[in-house]
Amino acid sequence: MKNVIDWIQQATSIVVLTGAGMSTESGIPDFRSKEGRWQQVNPLTVATVEALKSNYALFQSFYRARIQALVDVTPHNGYYILAKWQQQKRVTHIATQNVDRLHQKAGATHVSELHGNIETTRCQSCGKQYDDATRFLNEARCTCGGALRPNVVLFGEYLPEEAWEKTIQAIRHADIVFVIGTSLSVYPVNQLPSMTTGKLIYINLEPASNDQQFDATFYGKAGEILAQLDELLL
Ligand SMILES: [Zn+2]
Repeated sequence: MKNVIDWIQQATSIVVLTGAGMSTESGIPDFRSKEGRWQQVNPLTVATVEALKSNYALFQSFYRARIQALVDVTPHNGYYILAKWQQQKRVTHIATQNVDRLHQKAGATHVSELHGNIETTRCQSCGKQYDDATRFLNEARCTCGGALRPNVVLFGEYLPEEAWEKTIQAIRHADIVFVIGTSLSVYPVNQLPSMTTGKLIYINLEPASNDQQFDATFYGKAGEILAQLDELLL
């Protein structure tokens, strides 16, 4: 822990990459895990472009359930610490695989949403953007008659280019990359940590799924470990 504190204090650019484990600590089920499954439906069959096109009713109710599950969720302490580090200019970039916007709810800004977000929606036909999900939740269609969808990246879709490119650039220039709450099993995000020449710090309940070379590893809850680190920083 002492080394890590020294690294943080000497760093001029810290990049943070977060995944599902960060959200599950706030009580959001990981929809990829068995426990987090919605009505026993495998997300691989419903969070897809195919389902959106051929089984819209199922797609709609799956995402309605996911949006409604977020209503009472609040960010845990770890999110607030990262937002504070960003305000202190320690953290220069936050990228997340999570679509729940908890980083922003804790006060973080300019978050690269690698898998999009579930709060805003758009029309699959004309591309019109909606700032919230009201229309989608009301089972209404776009003004053009097209089907609405959350701005999440579905299985089979590309990652948002701007978020991806910004994150790669930030990671290449980082002194430290924190990888938090992800087992790094999802491509292509699992390629990101290897792009840095800085220190790689891993925080998760479980080991990563591949042989990443981390300079420091903490197994435990992100909220607790970030709080310990924050307390030791001057
Ligand atoms: Zn439309």
